[in-house]
Formats: sequence, structure tokens, C-alpha cells
Amino acid sequence: MVSREIIEKAKEFHGHVCPFLVLGLRISEIAMEKLGLRKAGLAETVEEEVIAIVEVNNCMVDGVQIATGCTLGNNSLIYLDLGKNAVTLIKRDSKKGVRIYIDSEKLRSKYFPQEALELFRKVVVERSGSREDIEKLSKLWEEIGYRMADLPEDEFVIQEVEVFEDIERAPIYPSVRCSRCGELVMEPKAVKINSETLCPVCAGAEFNAVIGRGIVKLRRIPYKQIA
Ligand SMILES: [Zn+2]
Ligand SMILES: [Zn+2]
Repeated sequence: MVSREIIEKAKEFHGHVCPFLVLGLRISEIAMEKLGLRKAGLAETVEEEVIAIVEVNNCMVDGVQIATGCTLGNNSLIYLDLGKNAVTLIKRDSKKGVRIYIDSEKLRSKYFPQEALELFRKVVVERSGSREDIEKLSKLWEEIGYRMADLPEDEFVIQEVEVFEDIERAPIYPSVRCSRCGELVMEPKAVKINSETLCPVCAGAEFNAVIGRGIVKLRRIPYKQIA
């Protein structure tokens, strides 16, 4: 069961308590238990010994990062742009892992009061809620969140998995200097035009970005320098 203490920690990180934040904590906890793991510490995060693979970028991912210690920054979190509520935790040395999938439709009908769902539609989907509606929704959402802390295992789909392909460890690349803006850029991201070395921005090259709807190709950064 997810402790209040870790929910508080997750709240501090995520900004609020919501159902999927706590679900992220809960399924991480189940996966860690099954693999005999504790939250990743010094050795695991430096060596990338434990890997969490998420299939969506929503509130759940913050719960996973807090519970497992596998984060975007320590390269132990892999994001697959699949749009599914699932987390796979993998122990690199044994190549064994556990994937846990959340059927949100099933949970919604069982644990989410109708009132909360209607408010959600009004406030979030239609963006037409009053201030009162927003406050009420956040309270209801938080309550549902706390309920997710002790969901039994059989509310989830739990699969044992085996890694058949090596998961690359984050490589260390040298940097090169862009001859136009003068900033350093990781070598594989640099673009050679004629004999000039340019960063992707100065080269006007396409690059990948993670935004709300997933991984997309961009050709322009969405801001410009004004001072
Ligand atoms: Zn959230
Ligand atoms: Zn540049």
C-alpha cells in the first residue's frame, strides 16, 4: 500500500494529488515488490541498473519517477510514445521485468463518482467550469487519488516480461561548437552544412520534442531571444 508520506513527496513534485499520480506510485510499488527492488539509489542510478519504461506522458509518470527513482534526468526512465497507461520495470542484470497496465475505463466505473466525472468533463474537457467547479473538482480528484493508494493487485493487468534486446545505456558524447551561435552542442545533434558545424537551431534542422501529445518533429523552437 502506498504510504501517505510518499504521496506527500509526490504531491510536492507534481503540484497536486490526482488519481493517476497515485496510480503511478501504486503500480511502481507492486512492480518493485515483484522484482525484489527498492527505490533506485546511488548504484542503480549511476549504472542505470533499473529501468522504468513508461508508455505515456501523463500524471502517472511523476508517480513512477518518485516511487522508483528512475527519472528522465538519470536516464533510467524510457518513454515510449504509445499512449497507454502502463509501466514496465526492468532489472538490467537479470533481464527480467514486470509490466503493469491500468485499464482506466474499468477503474473509472468502479472508483470515480459520477459527480467527479461530470465536473471533469465541464472543467477540463469543455474548459467551461467556474472557479467553484475547479475547486470542487480538485478536491474530488484528490479524494479519488488517495483511494488509489491501496487498490488491490487484481485491479491491474500484471505481466512478467523478459528483455530480449539490449537497452542502451546513455552514451557520453563530446560537444562541438556551433559556428553561428557559439553554443556547445552534443556532437551527434550537430549539423554539417558545407563545411560549417551548426547546432540544429541555427541549421533550421528538424528535431524531436516531447510535448503534451507525445513525441513530435519540430523545425523551430517556440521562442526567440528578446534581451
Ligand atoms: Zn496530476
Ligand atoms: Zn547555433
